[in-house]
Amino acid sequence: MRRKLAAGNWKMNGLLGDLAQLDQLAKAPLPPQIDTLICPPATLIHPAIAQTRGSALAIGAQDCHAQSAGAFTGDISALQLRDLGASAAILGHSERREGHGESDQLVAAKAHAAQAAGLCAIICLGETLAQRQAGDTLQVIGAQFAGSVPATLDPALLVLAYEPVWAIGSGLIPTLPQIAEVHSALRTALEARFGAEAAHTVRLLYGGSVKPDNAAEVFGVADVDGALVGGASLNAQDFSAIVQALAAA
Ligand code: PEP
Repeated sequence: MRRKLAAGNWKMNGLLGDLAQLDQLAKAPLPPQIDTLICPPATLIHPAIAQTRGSALAIGAQDCHAQSAGAFTGDISALQLRDLGASAAILGHSERREGHGESDQLVAAKAHAAQAAGLCAIICLGETLAQRQAGDTLQVIGAQFAGSVPATLDPALLVLAYEPVWAIGSGLIPTLPQIAEVHSALRTALEARFGAEAAHTVRLLYGGSVKPDNAAEVFGVADVDGALVGGASLNAQDFSAIVQALAAA
């Protein structure tokens, strides 16, 4: 049985004063049957870990470099993140694929680096609106999977997040059958990649405009093992409501 996962992505939001949101989250009784993770900006990872120590709230990163050390000005390695106590890294988010030109190959290399450092690699995949309207969604997701999720990854430290680009931050979400179709295709792809047994340990998150008022219906979809939440994770009350909906699903 896969443990469900509610993961928050703060993106480039949050100052030290905003860590109070974590206090609220960590002090509320987090449901023990699911995993809860917040990925703040890199500047807040260390204080966030210090602040939530002893709670069930895990802290992760939003990216990592593919190398463990070296002359890469401004970058942060998976080893450095692990050294701080981070437990996961979001990789291949569409904002990095688009805004930083990250290729599937680079995402795969980062995933290897993350896992080598002991981090769970949360690899994001998703189609644009034009690709969905052209009927290419499964083909696009299949190609991203083929390039970003090599068989050499460890399925025990792997999470996939289906994040339609057009649903991120827009208030729009796919229909429930559309989510089900992509998650089922991803499960099948995982089976082909890692074998049935290992494939069934990998959690599949849905991400894109998950809010307290739509979380329960999304979590009712087959093969949805949780959510990657952007905007709604910035507010402890909203994120808590999503966490509770996941625990009840
Ligand atoms: C995201 O950026 O990963 C995301 C899902 O954002 P939002 O929830 O704001 O759509």
